[in-house]
Amino acid sequence: MPTYPAQCLVLTRRDIGENDRCITALTPEHGKRNFVMRGARRSGSKLSGATEPFTRLRVLVATGKSLDVVTQCEVVAVYSALRSSMAGLAGACYLCDVVDALLHEHDQQSAAAVFNLLCHALNLMQQPAMWPDAIINATLLRLMAELGYAPHLESCSCCVEPLDGGPAGFSPSSGGVTCRVCASSIKDAVSLSAEAVALIGILSRAGARTLLELCPPEKPAALATNAIQGYVQFHAGRLLKSAEFLQALRMGRGL
Ligand SMILES: [Zn+2]
Repeated sequence: MPTYPAQCLVLTRRDIGENDRCITALTPEHGKRNFVMRGARRSGSKLSGATEPFTRLRVLVATGKSLDVVTQCEVVAVYSALRSSMAGLAGACYLCDVVDALLHEHDQQSAAAVFNLLCHALNLMQQPAMWPDAIINATLLRLMAELGYAPHLESCSCCVEPLDGGPAGFSPSSGGVTCRVCASSIKDAVSLSAEAVALIGILSRAGARTLLELCPPEKPAALATNAIQGYVQFHAGRLLKSAEFLQALRMGRGL
């Protein structure tokens, strides 16, 4: 069987057969791929830890008839600081789920940029942040921009009129902020203030240090998070379980 080397980040995993696992992994070179890890569920298997979501690997893969099989595997990074906190684990799993939901298998064009974006976010999330959602939200905004779904923030995304009275809402189906008139008539519009729109702009552009030190007031922070994560859910086409879990933690119910 022909083989090829790849670096990858595990997005999700599922059990197959009696002892095996199949991982969905993001590779910068080949896009999103499914790889079989034979024997990964056997007790004491070295591959067991390597199939955990958001583990970074270097692998040698044999091309199979239906699925490719990992024949050699080296763990590059496990992001252990994230695994020691429920919030870190939930945030990292959510970002992996979002990438899995939004990136198509044939989309190799964006794969390298998304891979770098995700690895950068996981590294940054290991450091203490004033507002941990800053890194998650910033990563989501950059991911959406990379995939061609950057939200429209400058004028009403529905009627295209200038936002003279300030933005009043955010509509995922319209693709961004809305004026007062449209906000009252579009079904999926959620409320959004001018402060929250300004915060989304900052999140789109801010560097690592700013993201770690960003500490916005509670109200605009909650509105911006709701708009960004609702927008991602719209494009994912479904409510991700990891998003629900993260929201429960945010509300203080899951800790
Ligand atoms: Zn409008």
